[in-house]
Amino acid sequence: MVNLYYRTVSCVLSLDEGTTSARAVLYDRQGRRLAMESVPIECSYPQQGWVEQDGRQIWGAQLSAARRTLATAGIAASEIAAIGITNQRETTLVWDRHTGEPVAPAIVWQCRRTASRCAALAASPGAAEVTRKTGLVVDAYFSASKIEWILDHTPGARERAEAGDLLFGNVDTWLIWKLTNGAVHATDPSNASRTMLMNLAAGAWDADLLRLFRLPASMLPKIVPSSGVVGEAAAEHLGAAIPVAGIAGDQQAALVGQACFRAGLSKNTYGTGCFALLHAGGTAPVSRHKLLATRAAGTSAAPEFAVEGSVFVAGAAVQWLRDELHLIETAAQSEALAASVPDAGGVYVVPAFVGLGAPHWAQEARGLITGITRGTSAAHLVRATLESIAFQTRELVEAMEADSGQQLAELRVDGGATANNFLMQLQADILGRPVVRPADIETTALGAAYLAGLATGYWSSVPEVESFWRVERTFEPQWDAVRREEAYAGWKRAVARAL
Ligand code: ADP
Repeated sequence: MVNLYYRTVSCVLSLDEGTTSARAVLYDRQGRRLAMESVPIECSYPQQGWVEQDGRQIWGAQLSAARRTLATAGIAASEIAAIGITNQRETTLVWDRHTGEPVAPAIVWQCRRTASRCAALAASPGAAEVTRKTGLVVDAYFSASKIEWILDHTPGARERAEAGDLLFGNVDTWLIWKLTNGAVHATDPSNASRTMLMNLAAGAWDADLLRLFRLPASMLPKIVPSSGVVGEAAAEHLGAAIPVAGIAGDQQAALVGQACFRAGLSKNTYGTGCFALLHAGGTAPVSRHKLLATRAAGTSAAPEFAVEGSVFVAGAAVQWLRDELHLIETAAQSEALAASVPDAGGVYVVPAFVGLGAPHWAQEARGLITGITRGTSAAHLVRATLESIAFQTRELVEAMEADSGQQLAELRVDGGATANNFLMQLQADILGRPVVRPADIETTALGAAYLAGLATGYWSSVPEVESFWRVERTFEPQWDAVRREEAYAGWKRAVARAL
């Protein structure tokens, strides 16, 4: 139904809380970006394999990004029809429901501190049942073992949780709770499906899984539709009360932003990690190739599903080149340096810094560099690192094709690292399929805006927002099959050694 009140206001605000920064983006009625501001978020690495963030900083960064975006655009809060929220998924926060203070640092999705707990569970007879219920491979990546860890390692936390004083949330839930001044404790199915606590088909928390991870149900947010008004952001935050009307985990939001609304459409996002999602329609899929079954962010109350493959380290490997190896000063410099050599000189970088995700699921694997000679230069290492992103994506696409029995005609791409033309060309060459980059590569923020705008009648229908999707550039494969398969075989050998 079209709500005439919302039809008179001028834009939708998307809050996109990623792993490296909190962004806020304003969109107009044609889905065009009016303004975007971003505020960085720090990660800390207190032990090997551990990754933490500060929940207060996440909220502060997101709020200031939103305020700056409004200021940049010269838009008043009263002109905003709705807020959509999208977020780094699985990252786990536990806070006191009375004070609103986190009881521990947020455990970031990349954190491996619960790897041994999950390895033991994965080897137990119950693992198959967990996978059957949740669509997930048992792994430290998901929220359940992270919540359990916080309750076990924060003095008094388990007692307070049992007494009903603590709340769990992923970043979406945390931001909604903060925006509504504690009035709303909610999440959507796309985020909930990443906790390892939700029954995927039913879309409800599962009592057996809560028992398995020893978590009281009172900690968990209510699961509400991805597109629908869930509450109002209090006026004090942005200057007027605004309905919060869209929620989706970042990858599912990107699927919406790429206009992949139907079964068979897919996208790959290149950010800190790489995430390929294939829309799987209205029935819970079962992967036979170690991909995950997950909830897509539905535009109606009817459940929608997706198959997903995630690579933990993609753009993060470029950050490693910059921050640890000091081979480049900015991520963007990787493009020119990699292009300065005709190939990687036989070097392969396997960036298994936190284990390997799909389709290997090797928690204990660690990174390696193979094929180094006296002639190996910084350019070769940088090129091999970019190639590793493209090889890992090929592994995901192959698993998806095997699962669905269909060949991908093209790969729709988005995310920060897709700005790198050299990487996109490499991807087309290594995959042997065209790579299609849309005009707006901030599809995550766009998808959350669509969900919120559709819920409030700012946009009238899915076909209306579908019509906004535009190709900016298509990268056609240029390598011949021999070169492509030789390079890929070399990658496979390097991965086998990392395993
Ligand atoms: P996230 O949402 O995960 O924070 P973004 O979509 O903002 O990530 O992408 C940032 C990531 O992409 C960083 O890891 C960065 O190293 C990488 N990146 C950004 N620009 C480039 C580039 N031009 N070439 C290669 N990698 C890049």
